[in-house]
Amino acid sequence: MTNTSLSILRSVDDPSRIRWDVIVIGGGHAGSEAACGAARIGAKTLLITHKLETIGEMSCNPAIGGLGKGHLVREIDALGGVMGQVTDRSGIQFRLLNRSKGPAVRGPRTQSDRGLYRQAMQESLLDYPNLSLMAGAVHDIIVKDDRIAGIITEDGQRICVGAVVLTTGTFLKGIIHIGEERTPAGRFGEKPSIGLSERLYNLGFEMGRLKTGTPARLKKSSLDWDSLEQQEADKDPLPFSFLTDKITVPQISCAVTHTNEKTHDIIAKNVEKSAVYSGSIAGRGPRYCPSIEDKIVRFADRTAHQIFLEPEGLPGSADGDVVYPNGISTSLPRPVQDEFIRSIKGLEHAEILRYAYAIEYDYVDPRELHATLETHRLAGLYLAGQINGTTGYEEAAAQGLMAGVNAALSTGGSEPFILDRSQAYIGVLIDDLITKGVSEPYRMFTSRAEYRLTLRADNADQRLTPLGEPLGLISRERSEAFSRKMTELDAANKLAASLHMTPNKLKAQGIKVNQDGVRRNVIDLLAYPNISFKDLIPIWPELGALPAYAQTHLETESLYAGYIARQKRDIAAFKRDEALRIPPAFDYDSIGGMSNEVREKLKSIRPATLGQAARMEGVTPGALTALLAYLKKAG
Ligand code: FAD
Repeated sequence: MTNTSLSILRSVDDPSRIRWDVIVIGGGHAGSEAACGAARIGAKTLLITHKLETIGEMSCNPAIGGLGKGHLVREIDALGGVMGQVTDRSGIQFRLLNRSKGPAVRGPRTQSDRGLYRQAMQESLLDYPNLSLMAGAVHDIIVKDDRIAGIITEDGQRICVGAVVLTTGTFLKGIIHIGEERTPAGRFGEKPSIGLSERLYNLGFEMGRLKTGTPARLKKSSLDWDSLEQQEADKDPLPFSFLTDKITVPQISCAVTHTNEKTHDIIAKNVEKSAVYSGSIAGRGPRYCPSIEDKIVRFADRTAHQIFLEPEGLPGSADGDVVYPNGISTSLPRPVQDEFIRSIKGLEHAEILRYAYAIEYDYVDPRELHATLETHRLAGLYLAGQINGTTGYEEAAAQGLMAGVNAALSTGGSEPFILDRSQAYIGVLIDDLITKGVSEPYRMFTSRAEYRLTLRADNADQRLTPLGEPLGLISRERSEAFSRKMTELDAANKLAASLHMTPNKLKAQGIKVNQDGVRRNVIDLLAYPNISFKDLIPIWPELGALPAYAQTHLETESLYAGYIARQKRDIAAFKRDEALRIPPAFDYDSIGGMSNEVREKLKSIRPATLGQAARMEGVTPGALTALLAYLKKAG
């Protein structure tokens, strides 16, 4: 954080004199997106966070996107959110993951320069009409007539409001663990939130403990960088935002190294000293992002684990000499960290700038939430981000956007904005959380989405921008860019349909299809797995003049046309069940043919649709039939 960016942040002198529509607590990834979302549709919004200079802070790895997560960023952007553009302004190593695989599972990812990310996020928030920022700690909430009515800060200010979005990340009763050391903290060097956590417990919220961890940070100039394998950025970086034409931030490479048998011996010998294994941490961590001691215990037969050494900034920047060693998070004591890190190739003389730690924190069972992310228990209170049991910046931002928008809509008396599983990864994320809850920190994967071929990263704008327009979420600039793009895609489709050739002539051009005399147009030809767009440009050079995104669109839609048509039928069936709405105050006690266990589950989660009820764990086909019969009779 530079002084320049600090000085441009606005703050509010006496917020208690203003009537706010929405207050967002927490300026992390969920909070930033929530505040912008609410403000974008016209709500008078106040963002309160501990320190203005940590808005946009990346608590752990300096990277955005990846498989499933990249889809979320594209969707946030398609709805006018800020994360995509901020990432494009700070990304220093763009890579499209799974490039060789199908378009449905390709994931855009980039490492970011930590300082540039923070600065770009702070500048974006500053530019927001209807949004004010305030540094402060919220200690409690004001409840009146069973709904939230305001907040109380640690220094005693009472601020009234219509709705609150709580996005406190890992701060609720956070405790940092390094070996046997335990330090109350929300993040390294930042104090935890105790009052809010106690208030949520007192209100009766179902809550639990989760944990996550971060690796040590290493001094780049102390590493034997040049001896290590390098991984370069893509030559043609693909932006996250549909509004970014070109990435102009310089790109760097990261290095790759591995643990070895000596590293594993050191860790195995000391594993009991790790906070997790000594029993000091009760919370569950993410299985798919295990600490290095977890990997050594769980995969005892492996003799090496890969480590990506990711610079946290551009050379010469404040974080340019800091390296994030991706793959070795731990809660082992400091001397053990020193020893095992220096046993790794290239890190023999590593200087440790900050030791690794694990953090344990309170979360709220997300089954406490409606699909709008408003709590069942307290009207007007919305929760988003890590507080709901998720992990990751992108998952947090996606929830933030939806919670901010719905909080704003509710104060204006408008209908909520809900995305279902067939419309967006955002819909999958929220539906998973509110229907199934979490048993470990939840992160997005492409495998969680049933309709992957429809929910691609490349078509997020086509799926979502038209839905955001009537809500006022989409700027004029974005709307015009989108409409230009749709006109170009339409023209590309027409061109592709108009260019055709007989099998005989195609053969003469080196393209082999059945010699059945039937003319094939470009769309027909692209449906063949062995024919690519590039193969057709020599035959019809005008295809080469189409924009790159139109070429990708034609190739993808034609190749998967059969599957996409089948998926459309599946989606129609899914929508039929989603259309069977269950009234919020539905009296489950009045239905027969259902066990008490299922009845209690339905009463606590209160599914909004028959489809959601069917996705709940333990809801039997018999119970669904009884519910359906009752709904049909009542409807
Ligand atoms: P945060 O980004 O944490 O933001 C919370 C904000 O709320 C902060 O600005 C804080 O100051 C503010 N706040 C809290 N309480 C109050 C209050 N009472 N009053 C005012 N302001 C308040 N994710 C991964 O995907 N992979 C990982 O490996 C990973 N490891 C992590 C390791 C660590 C040590 C930590 C701390 C996080 C890790 N994460 C990881 C998680 C990632 O950082 C979060 O998922 C993401 O930042 C969550 O966003 P958020 O907006 O919910 O919370």
